[in-house]
Amino acid sequence: MSYDSDNIFAKILRGEIPSEKLYEDEDTFVFMDIMPRADGHCLVIPKTPARNMLDASDEQLTACLRTVRRMGHALMRAFDAGGVTVQQFNEAPGGQEVFHLHYHVLPRHEGVSLRP
Ligand code: ADP
Repeated sequence: MSYDSDNIFAKILRGEIPSEKLYEDEDTFVFMDIMPRADGHCLVIPKTPARNMLDASDEQLTACLRTVRRMGHALMRAFDAGGVTVQQFNEAPGGQEVFHLHYHVLPRHEGVSLRP
């Protein structure tokens, strides 16, 4: 499967549609999910094209996971959370809806379920 540069996250990276930016470095960009399933639910994406994890380079995966860990620590502090859930979907049967690699980072509290 190839990369389609018309996807929503590519448009966010190009500044064509707005996003609520949380963090950015040379390789990755982080913004709030528009339909948060937990307070602080954000998305970590590489700045370079990758359809999903199956399509990504070692360098993209390393950069994304470094940022995921950084956001996990920061969000746990900011939201006084006890843990963090990381989700990542690949291709439509795997639950993927936006075809630019992304990691969901969700702060979690004991006994609180994710919203649907
Ligand atoms: P799923 O929708 O099953 O979680 P994905 O892993 O592909 O599948 O997630 C896409 C995510 O992108 C969803 O959580 C959705 O709320 C979010 N999203 C879609 N459009 C935007 C947008 N413009 N800004 C921020 N988040 C968005």
